[in-house]
Amino acid sequence: MKAHSGNVGVFVRIRPTAHFAQGLVECLPDGQTVNIYHRRDSKKTQDSIKGRPSSWSFRLEGVLQDVSQEEVYDRVCHPLVQGAFDGYNGTVMCFGQTGAGKTYTMTGSTKSYKQRGFIPRALQQVFQEIERRTDFSFSVQLSFMEIYNETLLDLLSPVSPLQDSTPPSARGLVVMEEPGRGVVIKGLSLHPVFSEEDALDLMFEADMNRVTGSHALNRNSSRSHCIFSLHIESRSRTLSEAKYVTSKLSLVDLAGSERLGKTGSEGQMLKESTYINKSLSFLEQTILALADRRREHVPFRHTKLTHALKNSLGGNCNTVLVANVYGEAEHLDETLCTMHFARRMKNV
Ligand code: ADP
Ligand code: MG
Repeated sequence: MKAHSGNVGVFVRIRPTAHFAQGLVECLPDGQTVNIYHRRDSKKTQDSIKGRPSSWSFRLEGVLQDVSQEEVYDRVCHPLVQGAFDGYNGTVMCFGQTGAGKTYTMTGSTKSYKQRGFIPRALQQVFQEIERRTDFSFSVQLSFMEIYNETLLDLLSPVSPLQDSTPPSARGLVVMEEPGRGVVIKGLSLHPVFSEEDALDLMFEADMNRVTGSHALNRNSSRSHCIFSLHIESRSRTLSEAKYVTSKLSLVDLAGSERLGKTGSEGQMLKESTYINKSLSFLEQTILALADRRREHVPFRHTKLTHALKNSLGGNCNTVLVANVYGEAEHLDETLCTMHFARRMKNV
């Protein structure tokens, strides 16, 4: 994808299957089409099972199957980070059911250096680029927050979620719109970083806080959205009247999109699912409304997720969505759900 204003790109990443024979998701040689089969052996027969088709086909910007973390980064995230140095905001979001590989894509695995995900790789690219651009001075700040049940939490707050006795609702951050500045998150800590190492330390700290915080509150961290933001400000050293150019990169690990019903959800799980469904559905509506220039009303304010991302969607922003899916047959229904969502976004 070329980084330019207002772009929305949609990719699908297929998680490697444990047993290839049971796989049901197949990438075609064009690299853009994914075919999904109800059963492997039903490929040729066009019979319907319980009135449903036995195969589905989706065409997106790119299908990522059996590709390394490096290649996924280069195709999906690299152009957006480059765009940030030309003054464009960039937003990358991973969505899909729990376990399909969102966090692997966004953060990566600590098992090996090669398995680093988008966030550490973006940090490396940013600081390499800063090193190259000697005629500019830069300042970089980062923030990390989580949205759980419509409550915003700072993952880098000096207050440890374990020690703090205030109820989470009272510790929530507030999304505010300020004239001239757009949306700001009141209370969210912004951390100046001067090197890749500084930034990585904060990333690990935020990851720890996400896990310990969710344990302390007795909930699963896959039920929250996680937003990492990098604010980059630059100014020419050579032009005497140079203005500051600011841009923001947002890397978003969305909450698991699985629907209710399988486990007879109730209580806390039902509440979580209701909030997640609502925020994902408004995310879709917001992206669709932004793409439709005739629409005057964009429903940013309906959920915390879209409100917080108001300046990071549409307008001066490149947006990329990664649909993470399992390759296995047992996840067919959720995979189709994720793919339909991806297709609706792709038509934007
Ligand atoms: P999610 O965040 O969508 O719930 P995770 O990213 O945590 O899912 O992935 C679940 C597990 O699968 C993790 O152990 C992760 O390391 C592994 N995994 C996911 N995608 C891949 C992949 N493309 N290659 C190798 N392992 C993967
Ligand atoms: Mg996850």
